[in-house]
Amino acid sequence: METDISKIKKISKQKEKENWEFRSFLKNCDITDEKIDSIVHRLYRDIVSEIDCQKCANCCIEMVPTLDNEDIDKFSKGSGIPVAELKSKYLIKNHESNDYTFDKMPCPFLKNNSCSCYAYRPKDCVAYPHLHKNDFTSRLINVIVNCSICPIVFNVFEGLKYKILDYDQEEKEDFY
Ligand code: SF4
Ligand code: SF4
Repeated sequence: METDISKIKKISKQKEKENWEFRSFLKNCDITDEKIDSIVHRLYRDIVSEIDCQKCANCCIEMVPTLDNEDIDKFSKGSGIPVAELKSKYLIKNHESNDYTFDKMPCPFLKNNSCSCYAYRPKDCVAYPHLHKNDFTSRLINVIVNCSICPIVFNVFEGLKYKILDYDQEEKEDFY
């Protein structure tokens, strides 16, 4: 399994065409979405147990999470920063959705490679990299983007390719 983020970036760049082709394959193949979800969930469980997010923290460096009002209230209480100050100093409003994002990368609350407000972090941070969710095939554009950001996503996507494109005849029945 590859966990070095600089190598992952390089490989993801090299595999860009392959990844988009695999997306098309997944969108058009006759393997059910439920089956793909169950393979992804299994791969995710195996891979997440092998990766130390505290050593990585790359999502906090390269992603900007979305915060709704509930997240902002909770984060304000946890950080001790009043809501108005949090919004004016650290957040940008998305006027279409009315949600907010942090105004810079890496996240200003990342300290010594750890979240300084971990217990109060936004739902979007808790859910990242979203591979426990259903409907994997509906989120493939984000998955491909995240391949070069998150070692878990990279390894799950590579594992999925191996399982689906290189499965042998014995395994075939397992997919349909
Ligand atoms: S979720 Fe992915 S990017 Fe974030 S810390 Fe864990 S391995 Fe790294
Ligand atoms: S709030 Fe915490 S978990 Fe979320 S991006 Fe910032 S440092 Fe990372």
